[in-house]
Amino acid sequence: MKLEDSISKLTGIGPKKLKALESISIKTISELLNYFPRRYIDRNFSDTILLKHGEIVTLIVTVIDSYLAHGKRSRLLVGVKTKNHERISLVFFSGVNYFQSVFKTGMNLVISGKLEYFRGLQISHPDYEVISSETEEDFVHAGRIIPLYSLTESMKRDGIDSRSLRKLMIQIVDEMNQKKILISEILPKPILKKRNLLDRNSSYSEIHFPTDDKKLQEARKRFAYEEFYFFHLLMNFKKKEREKIKRKLWALPHSQTAELIEKKLPFELTPDQKSAIQKVTSLSKSDIPYACLLQGDVGSGKTITALEIALHYIDNDVQVVLLAPTEVLARQHYSTIQNLLSHSPFMKMDLFVGKEKEKTRKEKIGRLKSSETLLAIGTHTLFQDDIEFANLGLVIIDEQHKFGVEQRESIRLKGKNPDILAMTATPIPRTLSLTFYGDLELVLIKSKPKNRKEIQTKWIKEDKRALVYNSVKKYLNQGRQAFIIYPLVEESEKVDLESCIEAYERLKELEFKEYNVGLIHGKMPQQEKERVMVEFKKNNIHVLVATTVIEVGIDIPNANVLVIENADRYGISQLHQLRGRVGRGEHESFCIMITAEKVTDEATERLTALTQSNDGFYLAEVDLKLRGPGELLGLRQSGLPDFKVGDIIKDEKLVVEAREDVLEFGSIGDMEKIEMRNRFTEGRILFPN
Ligand code: ADP
Ligand code: MG
Repeated sequence: MKLEDSISKLTGIGPKKLKALESISIKTISELLNYFPRRYIDRNFSDTILLKHGEIVTLIVTVIDSYLAHGKRSRLLVGVKTKNHERISLVFFSGVNYFQSVFKTGMNLVISGKLEYFRGLQISHPDYEVISSETEEDFVHAGRIIPLYSLTESMKRDGIDSRSLRKLMIQIVDEMNQKKILISEILPKPILKKRNLLDRNSSYSEIHFPTDDKKLQEARKRFAYEEFYFFHLLMNFKKKEREKIKRKLWALPHSQTAELIEKKLPFELTPDQKSAIQKVTSLSKSDIPYACLLQGDVGSGKTITALEIALHYIDNDVQVVLLAPTEVLARQHYSTIQNLLSHSPFMKMDLFVGKEKEKTRKEKIGRLKSSETLLAIGTHTLFQDDIEFANLGLVIIDEQHKFGVEQRESIRLKGKNPDILAMTATPIPRTLSLTFYGDLELVLIKSKPKNRKEIQTKWIKEDKRALVYNSVKKYLNQGRQAFIIYPLVEESEKVDLESCIEAYERLKELEFKEYNVGLIHGKMPQQEKERVMVEFKKNNIHVLVATTVIEVGIDIPNANVLVIENADRYGISQLHQLRGRVGRGEHESFCIMITAEKVTDEATERLTALTQSNDGFYLAEVDLKLRGPGELLGLRQSGLPDFKVGDIIKDEKLVVEAREDVLEFGSIGDMEKIEMRNRFTEGRILFPN
């Protein structure tokens, strides 16, 4: 048997099972071997059943008799005896007829289940297996820690269960242990020694059929390490590859336009903003392109920071693209930047959003191609094939977690190795940033502008809604504005949309009839959305009823009250983002989260965390604990691979060690290249390289 052989070589596998396994991409021995158990149960034989009441026991027994007992519920009682001649009844309440036909006097069984006492010792509905003699059984399913595998519906339908997988797996592992199949080591020897890792061959054997718990942990550790090692190796490889393609020096050390608008700003940049601009522009002095993550909590002023950086390119006639995840935000950026630049001679910018007249679009595309436009601001529409740049030097991605990997890559490929500036408000815990952004420069804006007051956050039950509206009115009367958010987590949820529109009608007619109430949601025509945002910005709309289309980025400093309906339906970071829509000016601001009287325990934890802290970093840590890293970063999108064994939170130490080792020992031979390719499908790890 060889690793690349088809699994049809194994005994006990017919066409049906073959097909079922194929459906989860298992065709070869090696692929099957890499189908790791989901969990394990300890099925070591119990030597005695004395004093084992209430415990799970695994025993070899012989059937003595069996009979149907009639009563309130009829049941089958199968009497068995252990090697020590102790008698136990196996009780079956359902499938009585079937089980009656299974158990015959004299039969040998391995049974496993919880030992109970009810007029004698009994186990109800035990796991069992018929064996022909006490020694014949290879102890595949009992007498050891046994593996349980994840099963899809189609696998179950075609007769594949953990038991049959074990029967297949043991054939491979047996051959491995007899050295008929050899699994070669793929980690460098010095690393195995330094980190005290189990060799690969034994690890495969132990991960499927562990000798004991200690060995199982060793095997697990080895595979986790291996995953992290190859991941870091790949990151490092990509970085080197990228650095090979030198680029022109794009950015100027000084930008006149940046200096000009800085003088015109109604505020002074914070020290963190200044140093971020400094740091990023200094990176552009090298002929190796940089990828940089600008991280600053909501409202910390990332937009102006990014603009100033961009101007260092623009003043040098190099093109910059600024991507925003929503049209509303793209439009806002466009008008903010237009205002900021209105005194400067530079006006070469264009907005690219969704549907436009064919002619307008063509003209805009022409201006990009001819390099007449130096700053392109827009949404996903910029990924389209007909968008071409003459000399794209910097890609700015606002709210970068909202973009998919392929999208980020496709925009990057529109330039000749441009610099990348990704922006986010989601703080990234240390291990994650090491793994995820291994070779990304991290630039932080820690402090917020001086004049900001803490946002007051309250959690209110819905029976007090009238009181909430009263205090909203108090602020409206002072000239402020308010948001009322209705949950529409997915833009496609029709019912939610209807309830949002209904609420808008009601608020407009009743509770807020003395005020101008506006509505904005994702399904509205673009022009309408734009009109509403302009009116709101001008304070012609006092109360804006909205779905989460306004979640990210929107900046209306005069709005100081945000009411979130059904707040329990959002995650922590989404609530924090939403809350960031207020507290952006000098006014004291409020976030009021409304829920039903009763919410789940997790929702309670989330909402309490929000009321206790305005600190995005702290909240991200709470979020991480409650939900795990996948949810926090939107990992599916983010490009971090699914590690099969490794857990980037629990195995933090291994993550760090693997990275160190890659830098110390890592080399990319052909073998490593193949291994990397096999492990990580291209698309997934493209960004942030
Ligand atoms: P975010 O980091 O969430 O993207 P923005 O860039 O939208 O934040 O900035 C939020 C608000 O703060 C904007 O109205 C912006 O004009 C203002 N702002 C930015 N920098 C400063 C500063 N240094 N002092 C005062 N206000 C600032
Ligand atoms: Mg922003």
